[in-house]
Amino acid sequence: MMHTPIPTELLTLIDQSQRVLCISHVSPDGDAYGSLLGMVWLLRHLGKEATPAMHDPLVTEFNDLPGAREILSPRRVDGAYDLIICLDASSADRMGDVYKPQKHSHIPLAVIDHHATNTNFGAVNWVAPECAATAQMVAYLADALDAPLTGKIAQCLLTGIVTDTLCFRTSNTTPAVLEVAMRLQDGGADLPDIVQRTLARLPFAALQLWSLVLPETRLEEGVVWATVRRDQLQAAGLKDNDSRLNTILSTIIEADMSAIFTEKIGKTGEPAVECSFRAKPGFSVSELAFALGGGGHPPASGCTLEGPLDATVARVVHLLQDARRTQAAHRGRRQATT
Ligand code: 5GP
Ligand code: MN
Repeated sequence: MMHTPIPTELLTLIDQSQRVLCISHVSPDGDAYGSLLGMVWLLRHLGKEATPAMHDPLVTEFNDLPGAREILSPRRVDGAYDLIICLDASSADRMGDVYKPQKHSHIPLAVIDHHATNTNFGAVNWVAPECAATAQMVAYLADALDAPLTGKIAQCLLTGIVTDTLCFRTSNTTPAVLEVAMRLQDGGADLPDIVQRTLARLPFAALQLWSLVLPETRLEEGVVWATVRRDQLQAAGLKDNDSRLNTILSTIIEADMSAIFTEKIGKTGEPAVECSFRAKPGFSVSELAFALGGGGHPPASGCTLEGPLDATVARVVHLLQDARRTQAAHRGRRQATT
């Protein structure tokens, strides 16, 4: 077996369940939607009642993914389930308000995730960091449960894989990823359609936001970073930045790490900063994100910090530069001994 084995307890829990609540993470991306809805269609294929739920409202680019319009908001989620499956979330807080301890803590919670920073917060945890997407793991689960990778299941799972690998470009795109993707396309998933709906699609307002943000982008000591202020978001007519700005910064030749800092207002009105990190192959930002209370993968991770924008940016840029220096020295030592 090429991936972390599926715990037999997970297969037993699924087998014994009848009404399953499926949850993925806050600030959802394509793998949050793809793995969530792929899991829902897999469970329905097995004859289960499956309900998807998410903290955030539906994101336009995923409107037409099969089942997307059935996703429940937190206030519509009750406690009438015999199994909860959490997908693509590395810690319990990433489920947002969908998971209600008073209603749900007596129901078994199964965690399926590919983040190395996963805190194993479920009763059963299947964490496979070698998988490029949680959707890839759901495909292996479908194999184990004798379900075909076709139709709605295939379309949802390929969406998760394509978005999390930036269309097979990230360093974790192994032959196993390509093999699963090939089987999903063979099963009817429409690859060009998925690419057009997700990666190859940007609102003009995002370009306008970037035109305001890019003049203040800085590059120092191998770290490139940009800051997105609330007044800039307002001027562009946007609620949030698009993570693709960091995909662009991560290509800068002179930098090994990149960051985007977005000014936010915290839950109780206090200033907060959403941090998004990227690292080139051979470097890692996940340890820093985890140490700051967030998580992610070595090449892409993030966290949200309380505090005013400028002081937080200055502090975190220093931490990134320190991490980059340490990692570069370590790489130098490794290269000298090989
Ligand atoms: P992005 O920079 O695209 O928002 O996120 C990159 C990666 O970092 C994703 O895998 C995402 O799950 C993870 N990530 C981003 N922000 C947070 C956070 O606040 N907490 C945790 N645990 N992970 C995060
Ligand atoms: Mn993912």
